[in-house]
Amino acid sequence: MKDVLKALPKVELHRHLEGSIPIPLVIEWSKKYNLPLSLDMQVKTPMPLPQVLERLFYQQRCFQNKESVETLTYEVLKDIAQDNIKLIELRFSPGFMAEPKNLSFDTIMEATLLAKERAQQDFRIEVGFILISSRDLGVEICEETIDLALRWKKDIVGIDLAGDETNFHPELFEKPFQRAHKAGLFITTHSGEVSHPSHITTSIEKLKASRIGHGVQAIQDPKVIQYLVDHKIPLELCPTSNFITKAIPHIKEHPLKRFMELGVEVTINSDDPTLFGTTLTQEYEICMKELDFSLGDIKKTILTSLHHSFVSKEQKNRAWKNHFKSLEN
Ligand SMILES: [Zn+2]
Repeated sequence: MKDVLKALPKVELHRHLEGSIPIPLVIEWSKKYNLPLSLDMQVKTPMPLPQVLERLFYQQRCFQNKESVETLTYEVLKDIAQDNIKLIELRFSPGFMAEPKNLSFDTIMEATLLAKERAQQDFRIEVGFILISSRDLGVEICEETIDLALRWKKDIVGIDLAGDETNFHPELFEKPFQRAHKAGLFITTHSGEVSHPSHITTSIEKLKASRIGHGVQAIQDPKVIQYLVDHKIPLELCPTSNFITKAIPHIKEHPLKRFMELGVEVTINSDDPTLFGTTLTQEYEICMKELDFSLGDIKKTILTSLHHSFVSKEQKNRAWKNHFKSLEN
């Protein structure tokens, strides 16, 4: 079955650039710049989310200059294409990538966009970038990230809010996100991942999110589930990630299938594949082995992902014609 799943043309909506750099490249780049390494870059056993995110440090340090940002982004997109992902929305935090060497946010944008152009041509994939504002950096940095997003509006497809949702509630970011929404940017937010399900509806109403990153805790509240169904808001679910960060107690208890049965639109994603030692193909395999998905269910989630993608109509139509039309049969 793995070969069948690998060969499927795929769409991925929730994947972090910083958590996608293949380990051999992290090692190669760290040697190049003489950076000490830990052998523990992958998280194999469940631990709290903040501890998981600390491991991103080794990948973050690889962003030493413009050249490394461009090369690593290109290599990540190459890896994505090798998993037969034909449409990818790749997200990153300019603030996080700029941090090690105090690069400017604009340098990060220029380098990632050069890589995107090259990768789209070389691998025949459709790429859309989502900029992340990290809650932990506060509202002021969030305003700055939105300024940056608006300046580069034609080169990105949306914005995301990530980081610690337990200590930084969604209401705090209402003003900058309303501003982004009014300017026409699409919005997705990490909500209800390990925190209260009410953050999901607040993010939709106050931050204007039209997709929810994870949202796995919605399973605890029938009202939130009904809200998602009524408003056709899809969840970007990431089974291995949700298990490792203790969002769910066991992989077999992941509510993906249950959401589907209840009428919630669901998409399957890998989140930070290097960190979690997974691929999108592997996530599909987990859904079939552990969560009672049929191949037809998997195909349905791929078409749901395509439908809810933030990329341009032109990119979607091209992807549909070239790769996804056949999945409808
Ligand atoms: Zn994420």
